[in-house]
Amino acid sequence: MASERVVIIGGGPGGYEAAHVAAQLGAEVTVVDTDGVGGSAVLTDCVPSKTLIATAEVMSELADAAELGVSFLDTEGDAATAIRVDLARLNARVKQLAADQSADIGRRLARDGVTVLQGRGSLAGPDRVLAQLADGTEQVLPADAILLATGAAPRTLPTAQPDGERILTWEQVYDLTEVPTELIVVGSGVTGAEFASAYLNLGIPVTLVSSRDRVLPGEDADAAKVLEDVLTRRGMKVLSRSRMESVTREGDTVTVTLTDGRTVQGSHCILALGSVPNTAGLGLEEAGVNLKDGGFVNVDRVSRTSARGVYAAGDCTGVLMLASVAAMQGRIAMWHFLGDAVQPLDLKTVSSNVFTAPEIATVGWSQHAVDAGEIQAEVVMLPLSGNPRAKMQGVRDGFVKLLCRPGTRTIVGGVVVGPRASELIHPVSVAVAESLTADQLAQAFTVYPSMSGSIAEAARRLHRV
Ligand SMILES: Cc1cc2nc3c(=O)[nH]c(=O)nc-3n(C[C@H](O)[C@H](O)[C@H](O)COP(=O)(O)OP(=O)(O)OC[C@H]3O[C@@H](n4cnc5c(N)ncnc54)[C@H](O)[C@@H]3O)c2cc1C
Repeated sequence: MASERVVIIGGGPGGYEAAHVAAQLGAEVTVVDTDGVGGSAVLTDCVPSKTLIATAEVMSELADAAELGVSFLDTEGDAATAIRVDLARLNARVKQLAADQSADIGRRLARDGVTVLQGRGSLAGPDRVLAQLADGTEQVLPADAILLATGAAPRTLPTAQPDGERILTWEQVYDLTEVPTELIVVGSGVTGAEFASAYLNLGIPVTLVSSRDRVLPGEDADAAKVLEDVLTRRGMKVLSRSRMESVTREGDTVTVTLTDGRTVQGSHCILALGSVPNTAGLGLEEAGVNLKDGGFVNVDRVSRTSARGVYAAGDCTGVLMLASVAAMQGRIAMWHFLGDAVQPLDLKTVSSNVFTAPEIATVGWSQHAVDAGEIQAEVVMLPLSGNPRAKMQGVRDGFVKLLCRPGTRTIVGGVVVGPRASELIHPVSVAVAESLTADQLAQAFTVYPSMSGSIAEAARRLHRV
């Protein structure tokens, strides 16, 4: 029997993870991608930003090292004045690491027998893809199934146009060779908060312009408060309830004008205004693919669109803009199409992390949902300041929060705020995914001393006789 032909448009995590699954299940797979496999996730978004943040973490640990008994030669113990970021070197490392990661993904796809075509894909109907290749030629690729995984791009405004030099999207910051003397970050969602925190820890004065009452309006309110306290204590200016009207540049000065007429000036500005899906001009509606508000592709929980045989995954669906979710949506699409066992996507088991300092990691139901009466749950919150390992490491900010159902005592959500919270959330994720009870989570051994001891301790506090 001939193999099923799968054509994937977009080589980010939504696309390349699906390609591996489809190849493993015996399909003949072609990926059409414009910018390089790995997608924005690898080339401009997750991988570069987390590599930048790795350097910021080292700088912030060094800045706090004096308290732990480290002194720096030729200074009075003030590391902050003794260390400098070498931005040109840092950015060169970022770009090299991203390119290497993309090449690794390309090699793995080739090993699995996946054909990668460099070019732009669009639908020429629900069962064929038109590939306009980089060499100027065109190919029509007939397909038994198509996966749309074209991702999203940074949103800009007519009044705030990036120039790639001083007014920057998050994709352009790695071209900086000079250290900004005064950085303005517009937008206090996850991306804005991550860049603001990173550059602050790299020793750069940062002003964060936030249209909302607090940073990270979509995250746990207690966590956002801890973060805002830490950022302001470290010297960041946070302008809340300040909506940007325009960003302009004159010479070396960038001016952000707010809707109430106030202005903020700096040497550089990063725009973190959200993303728009890459769905225009792809022939989607003509092929019967319904879009929802904002131009995102409408999908069900097994990644099907309204057109038979056409699936979609990742940021172009706007379901939850995370690389991990994009990859899972892509795999689910292929498991579904190729008849393998498949579980529909369950957003209540997704763990995510905000890579600020401290980090904020979350899984499952939120305190907001409990307060809004969407779910009944008991909530316990334990500050990390009482944890012995935290004391040894000089960590004062952060907490563990667990949510459990009143009757069954199953863990339904959690938040960890602290250093490496992205690693610490995993036991809570397992508990949520496997419906473990608070007692089961509490009874598993933790290392003494360890930050994870606070997760077990929080679970013990949820014990009821
Ligand atoms: C600054 C930043 C940091 C982030 N950090 C994290 C993180 O730490 N963890 C996390 O889980 N998520 C993170 N995200 C989110 C994550 O990057 C996205 O959710 C993820 O990239 C989505 O994957 P995707 O496959 O849908 O799209 P993408 O990664 O955007 O890939 C889509 C690909 O399709 C290509 N393409 C577009 N149109 C076409 C076309 N017509 N034909 C052919 N190819 C096309 C694009 O060039 C691109 O290569 C971050 C986002 C940002 C902005």
